[in-house]
Amino acid sequence: MTTTDTTATTGSSTAGHFVPENLPTRIQHYIGGHFVDSVSGKTFDVLDPVSNQTYATAAAGQQEDIDLAVAAATEAFENGPWPGMKPRERSRILNRIADAIEAQDARLAELETFDTGLPITQALGQANRAAENFRFFADLIVAQADDTYKVPGSQINYVNRKPVGVAGLITPWNTPFMLESWKLAPALASGCTVVLKPAEFTPLSASLWAGIFSAAGLPDGVFNLVNGIGEEAGDALVKHPGVPLISFTGETTTGQTIYRNCAANLKGMSMELGGKSPAIVFADADLDAAIDSTLFGVFSLNGERCTAGSRILVERTVYDDFCARYAARARNIVVGDPHDPKTEVGALVHPEHYAKVMSYVEIGKTEGRLLAGGGRPAHLAEGNYVSPTVFADVPPTARIFQEEIFGPVVSITPFDTDEEALALANGVKYGLAAYLWTGNLTRAHTFAQAIEAGMVWLNSHNVRDLRTPFGGVKASGLGHEGGYRSIDFYTDQQAVHITLGAVHTARFGAA
Ligand code: NAD
Repeated sequence: MTTTDTTATTGSSTAGHFVPENLPTRIQHYIGGHFVDSVSGKTFDVLDPVSNQTYATAAAGQQEDIDLAVAAATEAFENGPWPGMKPRERSRILNRIADAIEAQDARLAELETFDTGLPITQALGQANRAAENFRFFADLIVAQADDTYKVPGSQINYVNRKPVGVAGLITPWNTPFMLESWKLAPALASGCTVVLKPAEFTPLSASLWAGIFSAAGLPDGVFNLVNGIGEEAGDALVKHPGVPLISFTGETTTGQTIYRNCAANLKGMSMELGGKSPAIVFADADLDAAIDSTLFGVFSLNGERCTAGSRILVERTVYDDFCARYAARARNIVVGDPHDPKTEVGALVHPEHYAKVMSYVEIGKTEGRLLAGGGRPAHLAEGNYVSPTVFADVPPTARIFQEEIFGPVVSITPFDTDEEALALANGVKYGLAAYLWTGNLTRAHTFAQAIEAGMVWLNSHNVRDLRTPFGGVKASGLGHEGGYRSIDFYTDQQAVHITLGAVHTARFGAA
């Protein structure tokens, strides 16, 4: 089915640079069940973050490609079987998709790692999480119940839930396959048809969806994929009048642009945006557990993680001890070839992002006290590698305290009182996640009430039950997805009212 070209190189490793077997060199759109190039023939280059060399070209979607994809998705929605299928039938297909993802998790992880620079062990975890997203929504739709209200003797009212139509899905480059599954699974489970526009830095793993869906029995036209630059393909999708809702994950500033552009057509929107999440460590916490979690919380996924606990606030009585132990561990983190299972921090996604993160490392040197890292690791001369970088004594006015860096860089700030900790935690424009470490139950719950964050983890590592809401407040997002909230987003809840017995209407004009 695929027309994708591949390299002759097979699973080779040259000078520490692993290249997966049968690596695609030409990445196409997938519209109406067919792999196609852009109408214009335009392409863009795709780099791998270890060599920073172009390994593939991807079709660069424009307005006319989005028009074709929306037309295919509209045809599948209006005339195809998908929206009207029984939940059990859709659920079976979603479970087959999950099975297929699990069956090829190693290949998926290998391609994801090659394209994004994420450590292979973490990419494997993300592949399995993607499968779990499909399995979860497969279960949810067969158990779905909707509201019915009876007014005895007079009326029955019920909710008639209907898929909204063609969903536009726009995704970022951090854990791309998993984040795509996060939108694809509930959108498809709801009976919508979709047009996905993946991030231009990392189009590789998205090209696997078509084969997975087709083999699982998803009808042609239900899933459509258009690659391209955000301001071109993404913008055309956002502005297309045939797409009634947009689910977007990405930067806050991009979200603001999309919000404005959705206004003309009053589209439904879900926005998962940036973060600068606090991890607050009190003196009465289990410090060993807090150190493990706050290290993983900012350095896993290369720090390219929306919920990263990138500001650590530590009670002054344990501050020096915490900083010393934290920095010693950070200096020990294994940075290296993303394909090596021993690697804990790999290569940042793209040279542009690398330059941005490195610029914050330099800014940090003027704003805080450097305890670990501070540049490129000495043993890695090439590739987008940044040493895990720790700054202490960072004031809340610092740019590295206020701005999302989205890399392996953390700031640590001391506090003396609960009030001060709360003010520091809430003193940024973002409100995605918060982490709290304390042995005091009352304090833990009091903080959870007062923290301006969509999600709070108390004495807990960032693990999310898929039934819970996911989303941010303030500049971190609009709306909540997760569990039935995602189904709510992709469906309309039409209210149907029926009279029981005689109709009781005031008889205007009858007197
Ligand atoms: P980005 O905003 O640059 O791009 C995201 C997507 O939007 C890409 O597909 C891009 O092509 C597209 N895009 C860009 N401009 C567009 C436009 N004008 N119209 C339509 N589409 C457009 O974000 P990124 O750099 O890819 O991702 C990193 C950001 O994502 C970080 O800020 C991170 O915090 C955030 N993020 C948030 C969550 C969350 O759930 N809150 C999860 C992951 C990442």
